[in-house]
Amino acid sequence: MNLPLQQLLKLQSLDQIALDAKKRIENIHAEIERIREKASQLETHLTQKQQSIQRQEVQYHSNTSQLQALEATLAKQKTRQLSTKKMEEYQALENANADLTRKIEDLENQMLTDLDHFEADKKAYAEWIGATQRDLEQLQLREKQLQSEKQSLQTTYAQQCANVSNFETHLRGPFYEVYTVLRRCEKTFPIVVPIIKGNQCSGCHLSVSTDTVAKAKLNAHPQCCENCGRLLFVEQES
Ligand SMILES: [Zn+2]
Repeated sequence: MNLPLQQLLKLQSLDQIALDAKKRIENIHAEIERIREKASQLETHLTQKQQSIQRQEVQYHSNTSQLQALEATLAKQKTRQLSTKKMEEYQALENANADLTRKIEDLENQMLTDLDHFEADKKAYAEWIGATQRDLEQLQLREKQLQSEKQSLQTTYAQQCANVSNFETHLRGPFYEVYTVLRRCEKTFPIVVPIIKGNQCSGCHLSVSTDTVAKAKLNAHPQCCENCGRLLFVEQES
């Protein structure tokens, strides 16, 4: 193998390390986003449950006031009824009282049902809140770990980019030029690959022409796969 190719393979392995770090940073970033999304859903759910319980409480208090008002009205009507002398007025108040009594009964029944629901919801909430808060704490802890992992990987990535850059400062020539073009087009790594059995490019696993194989063996000029464009070389038999 000629020197430019050996250098390219070394450069490629340095690039690969940097790329791996970059990929891991991206994966961690995606995981952090998922964790944040999940935590935000839990928080929304928590707020909704709290608001629902508050609404029920407010409703119950409002019904209690309404019940007290109805009972006060009924008491007044009964007092008026006792002091009335006119039969007609007495009967009208009798009907009004019956009407009011029904309303009071309906409201009392409604309040009993509401109270059952309210108590059940409060109990379910009390059981749920503990587990949810623990889940939230775990998510926050996990996010913190990932953030620190990400930070250290970013340092590694920056160092590796510097290594690549230092290594390639003195590289020149057609092999290196082809390599930089392939790297710029973000071709899938590896971009320098050996020709394997059956004259196959080991990057895309399609056959390359015998002419390309012959030229690649000579090692004098860069040869690219006719299918995927990767830079080809022939491994020397040992
Ligand atoms: Zn190929």
